[in-house]
Amino acid sequence: CGIVGFTGAGSATDILIRGLKKLEYRGYDSAGIAVFHDGDIRIVKAKGRLANLEEKIKGDSTLTSTCGIGHTRWATHGEPSDVNSHPHDSHRITVVHNGIIENYMRLKEFLTGKGYEFKSETDTEVVAHLIDYYYKGDLLDAVITAAGKLRGSYALGILCRDDPTRIVALRKDSPLIVGLGKDGNFIASDIPAILEHTKDYYLLDEGDIAVLEPGGVTVYNMEREIVQKEKLTATWDV
Ligand code: GLU
Repeated sequence: CGIVGFTGAGSATDILIRGLKKLEYRGYDSAGIAVFHDGDIRIVKAKGRLANLEEKIKGDSTLTSTCGIGHTRWATHGEPSDVNSHPHDSHRITVVHNGIIENYMRLKEFLTGKGYEFKSETDTEVVAHLIDYYYKGDLLDAVITAAGKLRGSYALGILCRDDPTRIVALRKDSPLIVGLGKDGNFIASDIPAILEHTKDYYLLDEGDIAVLEPGGVTVYNMEREIVQKEKLTATWDV
């Protein structure tokens, strides 16, 4: 299971697939990506090896975005299948998730009551709907409010249709780093996924919310105050 995200100058699809390959050692049963396209978010996902996903992506001219998120899944809730693969979306919001949302049943009941329709059997899908439910035009606000309702473990990468160059990321009891490149910025479950692009990174602490733009990364706390992070440099080689 792994997460990669990129926003900057370059093909997000290429960077995501290459990054996910570097995370293969973590094990997975399916994979997927989401990238911006033409005012919307395109999601491509496939059960099985990354090669299956690559096959679906090949020659697709709608996947040329410079911002996106990718995921390899190790199923905990819902069998490995195309529809249970990540990313999961709800209206304007698209998410990838590693970990387990312990209170997903209660949240699912709540959201179903609000009219949300669930497509998958995953615990993750509640995260997309919950953020969409709280979204009133400011993604960071919506993520902070939604995070307050989530129990369990998560590393999350989040896209919003209204912010086509932005990734929001946070974690709890599941790893996630932020890579700081010259031509763009990254999220990843582990350093190898981004090492061919940059050695500079932030370790996200619990309660940190990273907002990635092509030109920089701002980290906030749950009170929406800016947190000064220490930039670390990986000492290993690719
Ligand atoms: N619990 C989520 C699922 O089953 C995420 C699994 C993972 O960490 O890859 O879809």
